[in-house]
Amino acid sequence: MKAQMISGKDYAAELAGQQAARADTLRLLGIKPCLAVIMVGEDPASATYVRNKERACQKVGIDSRPVFLPEDTTQETLHVEIDRLNADPAVHGILVQLPLPAHLNEAAALMRVNAAKDVDGFHALNAGFLLRGAPAVTPCTPKGILYMLKKARVPLDGAHAVVLGRSNIVGKPAALLLLQENCTVSLCHSHTRNLADITRQADILIVAIGKPRFVTAQMVKPGAAVIDVGINRVDGKLCGDVDFDSVSDVAGWITPVPGGVGPMTVAMLMENTLEAACRA
Ligand code: NDP
Repeated sequence: MKAQMISGKDYAAELAGQQAARADTLRLLGIKPCLAVIMVGEDPASATYVRNKERACQKVGIDSRPVFLPEDTTQETLHVEIDRLNADPAVHGILVQLPLPAHLNEAAALMRVNAAKDVDGFHALNAGFLLRGAPAVTPCTPKGILYMLKKARVPLDGAHAVVLGRSNIVGKPAALLLLQENCTVSLCHSHTRNLADITRQADILIVAIGKPRFVTAQMVKPGAAVIDVGINRVDGKLCGDVDFDSVSDVAGWITPVPGGVGPMTVAMLMENTLEAACRA
């Protein structure tokens, strides 16, 4: 049986209409939602992501304010720029595009962003709230994953969710969100033993490791929901961390790459920006 495809692209397009209506309402109230994106250097992949975010802002009616800084920007200059945006009441969301050049301290830069404007949800205060299960700005990719699972009506309560990858931006927050939904969560990483034995027990399998087509059909329980976060470029083409062709014969639900988690991440960034504008 072929898996049901969960199209993040379709969900994101549907959400964009609703978000545009909310942005209109905010404008009627005199609030012009605004997202500032800081990019340091000229990494081509980052430049593409920044352009995608600008396009999404335009579609929804959010003002986008890109701030491009040269590769040799110092930590101090970056912090001055973040402080300027923190102090600007017209800016509701601030995003520091990652990765930063190697000489910069990423954690320090993320902590410099006012937690209320931290639309990425990477500030330690927001991460702490998420850990406690308190209302917080939730990181966009895990928030998008949960949205897709719920929208596709994948049963969550009591399900065994296995998350591959323990990064601060995807794996860890995804595991916490699934825990809040009463899943039993296993969080796996590069030191995990007998990985396939664990993934084969998953009712929900989230894969975020950055290894092209790593998860094969033999690693998946029949009927499982498989969410592929990975973005890899192989021979000039994008592919995920899941071997889509073989896994879609076994899984119950599957997300494609491209057109799965990626568009949902951007949609949730719009969501977080609108929420920040409402709070302001
Ligand atoms: P990181 O590089 O920060 O983390 C990768 C994680 O995968 C680590 O925890 C690592 O374990 C684990 N890992 C690596 N190899 C294996 C393995 N063989 N078995 C089990 N675990 C392994 O990655 P990110 O979380 O930032 O991103 C992961 C992928 O998702 C990338 O392809 C990235 O491009 C993509 N991505 C996509 C987004 C989207 O919107 N679609 C958004 C963000 C990321 P350890 O900790 O032990 O090293």
